[in-house]
Amino acid sequence: MQRKDAAVFTFNGTPSPGLTRFAKELRSVFEANGYAYEDSPEAPRLVINFISPDRARPYRRRSKATFVVSVIELPEMPEDPVRALYPYIVRALSNMMIAYTPGEGAHFLTLELGHYLEPEGPAFYERVYARVNPIACSVLVIDNVFEPDLEPELWNGDEQTEALYRAGRKLAEWDLLPAPFPIETILPPEDLRHVKRLYGIGGLSYGNLSARKDTRRFWMSASGVDKSNLSAIGRDLLLVKDYDEERNAIVLQVPPEVSPRRVSVDAIEHWMIYREHPEVNAIIHVHAWMDGVPSTPFNYPCGTYQLAEAVAEKIRQAPDPARAVVGLKNHGLTITGRSVDDILERIDGRLLPQVPMS
Ligand SMILES: [Zn+2]
Repeated sequence: MQRKDAAVFTFNGTPSPGLTRFAKELRSVFEANGYAYEDSPEAPRLVINFISPDRARPYRRRSKATFVVSVIELPEMPEDPVRALYPYIVRALSNMMIAYTPGEGAHFLTLELGHYLEPEGPAFYERVYARVNPIACSVLVIDNVFEPDLEPELWNGDEQTEALYRAGRKLAEWDLLPAPFPIETILPPEDLRHVKRLYGIGGLSYGNLSARKDTRRFWMSASGVDKSNLSAIGRDLLLVKDYDEERNAIVLQVPPEVSPRRVSVDAIEHWMIYREHPEVNAIIHVHAWMDGVPSTPFNYPCGTYQLAEAVAEKIRQAPDPARAVVGLKNHGLTITGRSVDDILERIDGRLLPQVPMS
């Protein structure tokens, strides 16, 4: 799936003195690659948002499809880029952060906590472009359509949701579910509402799990919920019925009286894998790593069709797609299994908490 919108980009905010050249060169590279610069376009594909440490103003998108990359000048390279940059990515409501230190280079941080450095030197601005452009070109699949027609015998779950409940407890026990970032402590309520709408999330938390229900449908954890207590159907666990290509939305079946939560943004990825591999009955995604796993070549954002395709491609190449472990570059692992318990048995004691970054 390709974006059909025009490759329009714009700047927001004022570059600090140290970012003036960065802004000029980056604009040239984007223009040389077919992007058109416009002043205040209605729905640009990409916004480069210049912020400063004391003024991390967000750019207010009118369309979820607009990707915002915020750029800040820092006098020194951050020692711990996640800690140093995460508050800015959230306060500036961005999909990605770049911290530029003149003469040194650019540190990148993604919402999935991917972080990596492009040192200044030959083709620096082309390398920055190559880090940003595929993200700006990706398509988010985060809309949900709720159909309140879940069969009454499933309102309290089934054996599969029981297995997911137990798996969530296990992952919490193994300390694989980092506490969601406390965004409410750094964002005022109206920005928080904007973040939730924008990213299609209930909060920033990591990891998700799913189990096949039948040939077409699968249960999946909701977005931003506490995965150590996946119990309420329609709130913690949702039944994914299909992906509606025309509406570019995930279709969910929920009990009639429940005000449902959104499904995890990675539902499109799980949907692709279940559809292609009938022998896959469960999928778990964690922000951890395992030695020697094959990895996707690029870190597309969560919830994009491109990430889903990149993972599906690696699953297809695995010796046994029903028991595959695939690395998501600068992000984590997706693991398939014949059952939820099959996955837990295979990963027990083998997960490394540090995801390699490059
Ligand atoms: Zn993830």
